[in-house]
Amino acid sequence: MIQKLWLSRSGWDNDLEKALQDEWQNYRSSLTELEKIKITRWFSYTSTACKMELHGFCDASIKAYAAVVHLVVTNKSGSRQISLVAAKSKVAPIKTISLPRLELSGAALLAKLTRPMICVLKIMNWSEVRAWTDSQIVLAWLQGHPSKWTTVVANRTAEIHHLLGKNIWRHVPSKQNPADCASRGVLPLELPNLDLWWRGPEWLSIPEQFWPNRATCESTDEEVRKSATCNSTLTNDHLDNNILGLQNRLSTFTKLIRVTSYVRRFMSVIKKVKHGGSFITATEFNASVFTWIRIVQGHHFAHEIFQLQKRKVINGNSSLSKLGNFLDENGILRMTGRLYHSELNYNERFPIILPDKSPFVRLLLEKVHRETLHGGAQLMLNVLNRNYWIIGARNQIRQVIHKCITCYKERAAVQTQ
Ligand SMILES: [Zn+2]
Repeated sequence: MIQKLWLSRSGWDNDLEKALQDEWQNYRSSLTELEKIKITRWFSYTSTACKMELHGFCDASIKAYAAVVHLVVTNKSGSRQISLVAAKSKVAPIKTISLPRLELSGAALLAKLTRPMICVLKIMNWSEVRAWTDSQIVLAWLQGHPSKWTTVVANRTAEIHHLLGKNIWRHVPSKQNPADCASRGVLPLELPNLDLWWRGPEWLSIPEQFWPNRATCESTDEEVRKSATCNSTLTNDHLDNNILGLQNRLSTFTKLIRVTSYVRRFMSVIKKVKHGGSFITATEFNASVFTWIRIVQGHHFAHEIFQLQKRKVINGNSSLSKLGNFLDENGILRMTGRLYHSELNYNERFPIILPDKSPFVRLLLEKVHRETLHGGAQLMLNVLNRNYWIIGARNQIRQVIHKCITCYKERAAVQTQ
């Protein structure tokens, strides 16, 4: 519910949409059901208790991640009393994060929740603390050394190792995971009778030797840190410098980008990065276009980009100093202007700046000319402005049209008798 409210992006004093408003009202009125829930003040600890175990469960969904901890007290008679000690849930970040990473966040939440409890309850024997997750990937991450994984995963696993160690983690099927109730979300009406939540999975009340067999931990390729085996002479800068000559050798924009894509793919093969089938994908194609834009901008606006990186402004001598401009997160030089506040899409509001005398730009203009079915200057300019701001565009467009054979034949004056 909270995530939905947040995602609706309405201001603090705006009226909500009707559907959301109804949902909220329903939710609010159902909260009175919570009054029926009674939680005992004491854990079922008696003087006859001979063993205490802590069982922490964690889980995640795309909506939230959660952790819940149960205390199991075994009496001298052998009966096991289970009580819920603590639980915590967090709404998943709006930024899309992979489910295994969210599961790992859940595990970190459980580690932080359990650690102080171990100290307070004086359970010193680690064999009597168990942490459960339903994610095999998280288990595999926790079994491996943090240095094996990518930064985010490495940081989290190191933190979990520090708080709880890595040997107490076990696998629990999703359906028997009490934390699943919290990560999935439960209506207040269902909560009082939800045994899984209050008392953990059924097998927790019987001795360990009778617990169902657990799946063994599998290994994973997820988020493995890429080893840097690539030859140092094949860096991106090196590629950029050597590739510049291509723009004069290839006849069309598409051919240029496709060749670049294959070169980039060759480099990724060397770096042992996996890629798709034998065809160039749209993602690869677009990445190559951006590579070219970076190369061309770097070649023509090196000084300006340097100034922007250093001082965030371009000084008066440059042809770009009159335009508002900035470097985006991909290091591409873009223009800002009066369209800043409009509702146009990002590329139209912040077009990419391209220089005037560049073979790459000429190929781009020729492509746009063909795609607009030999369109005139104004039409081409409109199409180009959806993504680019080309310096001296009109002049260049006129030259492209002038050199186009098809247009030339169309223009030819009919001879008179
Ligand atoms: Zn033409």
